[in-house]
Amino acid sequence: MYNKIVLSSDEVPKKWYNINADLPVELPEPKNSEGKDQINALQKAFTKEGLAQEFATDRYIKIPSEVRELYMEMGRPTPLSRAKRLEEYLNTPAKIYFKREDTSPTGSHKLNSAIPQAYFAKKEGIERLTTETGAGQWGTALSLACNLLDLECTVYMVKVSFNQKPDRKNIMDIYNGKVYASPSENTKVGREILEKNPSHPGSLGVAISEAMEEALENDEVKYTLGSVLNHVMLHQTIIGQELKTQLEIAEEEPDVMIACAGGGSNLAGSLFPFIKDKIDGNSNTQFIAVEPSACPTLTKGSYEYDFGDVNGFTPMLKMFTLGHDFVAPSVHAGGLRYHGMSPQVSLLTKEGYIEPRSAHQKEVFEAGVCFARNEGILPAPETTHAIKVAIDEAIKCKKTGKEKTIVMNFSGHGMLDLKGYASYFEGTMQNAK
Ligand SMILES: *Cc1c(COP(=O)(O)O)cnc(C)c1O
Repeated sequence: MYNKIVLSSDEVPKKWYNINADLPVELPEPKNSEGKDQINALQKAFTKEGLAQEFATDRYIKIPSEVRELYMEMGRPTPLSRAKRLEEYLNTPAKIYFKREDTSPTGSHKLNSAIPQAYFAKKEGIERLTTETGAGQWGTALSLACNLLDLECTVYMVKVSFNQKPDRKNIMDIYNGKVYASPSENTKVGREILEKNPSHPGSLGVAISEAMEEALENDEVKYTLGSVLNHVMLHQTIIGQELKTQLEIAEEEPDVMIACAGGGSNLAGSLFPFIKDKIDGNSNTQFIAVEPSACPTLTKGSYEYDFGDVNGFTPMLKMFTLGHDFVAPSVHAGGLRYHGMSPQVSLLTKEGYIEPRSAHQKEVFEAGVCFARNEGILPAPETTHAIKVAIDEAIKCKKTGKEKTIVMNFSGHGMLDLKGYASYFEGTMQNAK
């Protein structure tokens, strides 16, 4: 029996897996809105390699050896652990495994895409990268990746998160990133929004607009996105490929696989290599995406073309969306407050490969505390959504007597999210409607 499955450095995958090669129906292309040319803007804002990967159809894409080296130096491969004490606490016949993306130095899976994006920018002679960040995880990862590759980094952080999480700014400062609360006075978009509503809480959509504006106006600046787009999903597939090797070692076939979903990248990264088997007809695994009921993109949104940002700088993407002007209530899982969803994850949900579920804030924190008390590891508020459903599934097994193997992606740790836990214990935490 395995409590922890660890791989050696040379088992870091050599290729990323591109699900575009295997999708059951063709992915709808991004398109311009009437009278505008956002596709052209996109081409100007992103690195050439990022764009090429966005539209690539090869099944596997080689990971440059420098990137693979950096993955190893930053702690990959990550362990797969079994939540034995949680199983005993729940008194379930189910086995619960969790893939430890919290062991990354920045505390989440985000570095998996930050490293290659910074690497491609450096190779193309770019001086500075801009980005947005919700909970602060992506900004932290990009700050570190830029510093490792000797690039400057500007981060627009959603204002509610900026105020809720001052430690996030501190850690980005440490990694040499420059952080601004968004909406900010730096950009035209930011100034316009602040003029209308000086206490606007910000949103990922607004922050994206600010970061993109900078890239569009400076040739030596490029924009990066930490989720949603195909090339980000691609980079994250090192998680799922490692996970496959680890489950083979443990001689386990997953019955249920679970990940939380904000823009879809940790879900795509951990599950796409397994969803491939399902598309090929070789798997019966159930795949579950978990989102907050305060931002129910997959469970209550509609599948249609919408902008990725509030201002219409991005092309229209066919995805599940709550509308690009949707401002989610200020829940603590800041990384899950995005109005849209990865077009690839959206399509696979539409086609029935991924089952979406939503969970309320108090119940996910309860699950997170239960996990921490049994396993010792404090999950990020985003990650608690996956834990909540893993616990639900394990309890179902108790009723049915089925010994299912449940595998979840543990997207990040919550050591910088203690304020959320504090409000849970103070009893001041709200469930959004
Ligand atoms: C960013 C983040 C998420 C949500 O983003 P996805 O792109 O959906 O993965 C989830 N968990 C953690 C810890 C994060 O940092």
